[in-house]
Amino acid sequence: MGDRNSLFCYRKDDDGLWIWNYVVNAKLKVGYKVQSLLHYEESEYQQIGIVDTKGFGRMLVLDGFPQVSTLDGFIYNEMISHVPIVTHPNPKKVAMIGGGDCGHAREAIKYAGIEQIDVVEIDKRVTAVCRKWLTPGSALETDKRVQIIHRDGLDWIRENKGNYDVLMIDRPDPIGPGKKLYQQEFYQYVYDCLTEEGVVAFQSGSPYYNTSILRRTVHNLQKLFPIVRTYLVSIPVFPCGIWSFTLASKKWDPLQADFSRLKQDDTKYITPEVISASFVLPKYVKEILEEE
Ligand code: SAM
Repeated sequence: MGDRNSLFCYRKDDDGLWIWNYVVNAKLKVGYKVQSLLHYEESEYQQIGIVDTKGFGRMLVLDGFPQVSTLDGFIYNEMISHVPIVTHPNPKKVAMIGGGDCGHAREAIKYAGIEQIDVVEIDKRVTAVCRKWLTPGSALETDKRVQIIHRDGLDWIRENKGNYDVLMIDRPDPIGPGKKLYQQEFYQYVYDCLTEEGVVAFQSGSPYYNTSILRRTVHNLQKLFPIVRTYLVSIPVFPCGIWSFTLASKKWDPLQADFSRLKQDDTKYITPEVISASFVLPKYVKEILEEE
């Protein structure tokens, strides 16, 4: 894909341990001060770290790249999950590709009408490590609707046609096992996996330094879906702070969704107003999407 733009390292400086994230496209180096390295291992697929940081609480770090922190993880998790769920009027069957700490599934279980939640995560070590260090005793563990499937998301989706009301594609950068989730054919499989009224939300990268990822995601989805809308969120732990998701829908428009369905009693970021505002794009982002 050629879009790998961040190198990484755990490095001991004079003032202790840091995780340094090099965002090559942006010529930016972001350091996260580590208070303690709680866990580190190399799984079959990636390097998995759990650290307590100075500024962001406890953090899951995959291949040196921060994925979720206890300080701001709610922002990402709420926005990738509630937005497609409330866009669909009555979702019953939901799946996520890319599990991580399963924060999206913890949001989805708030909807009593959802009957089945399948989380497809390639790396069983990520699930186990997150359960131990980030979310011990989570309600997910006892919710009978939730199934964690340890499989490659591309293989899984190829075999699941026409079944799901809502999908969330919580993919990492296009490196390692995540690379497959950016292939052209993957978008067709996502389309085929949804019912005729299905809705999907993709993690679509930084609008600063992943512009080609964002543009390609939107263009690939526009070839298949009648409704494609990018929305923006502010995530302090990610370099440059601003991040994109892209929603694609076969029938329902998120701008006309009935937000009274939103389960926002114990959310910390999302409200109907935040959802509406997140779809308002600055000119520079519109220009990225309009480029060939
Ligand atoms: N938002 C998540 C969190 O809060 O922890 C981070 C998820 S991270 C962006 C993506 C996850 O996708 C990782 O846990 C990684 O192991 C998984 N993954 C990578 N490639 C995959 C594939 N081909 N199929 C399924 N899961 C994959």
